Amino acid sequence: MVKTKQSQVLKVLIKDIFPNVKEGLVLEWYCIKCGKYSDNSVSCEHCRRPFGASDENKTKSNIGKIIGVLGVLAVVFFAFLIFNAGKPKEVETKPPINIIPAVSKWLEERPYYGTPKAVTEIPDWAMGKRQTVTLSSASGIIDYIFYLQGDSVVTVYKINSTGERIEVWRK
Ligand SMILES: [Zn+2]
Repeated sequence: MVKTKQSQVLKVLIKDIFPNVKEGLVLEWYCIKCGKYSDNSVSCEHCRRPFGASDENKTKSNIGKIIGVLGVLAVVFFAFLIFNAGKPKEVETKPPINIIPAVSKWLEERPYYGTPKAVTEIPDWAMGKRQTVTLSSASGIIDYIFYLQGDSVVTVYKINSTGERIEVWRK
């Protein structure tokens, strides 16, 4: 109960609280929700709405919370991007083709044979190592067998579509 004696007309406007001066003596409070007057300055006696808790402030407070949550999500998202950027890509983790250095050198000197795509290990022959290399070129993907003697390529066979070996190079 707020019944204050006032010597002059009150000019009070605190948020949604509109005091109503009756007969210059009794202070009442106007509720913007139900449009009734209350003696109680804390909350409306009719609808229990607390005075001073403006909806505008609640809205601002909710917007603040939403911005806060969005901010946290943004931080998590960028942290995820940075984390992923630090990880090597799938392509980079692919193991390199393990070509015998002499074969690799032979192919570098003859780029028209194509680009090595895969290697198939095969047992040694009587004089040294052997290796099958799959080469990709304008004429397609073709397997070649390289025969080595010591550290040098001595014979190269092409394997045609029927599996037949055709000698393409000899030292
Ligand atoms: Zn009310």
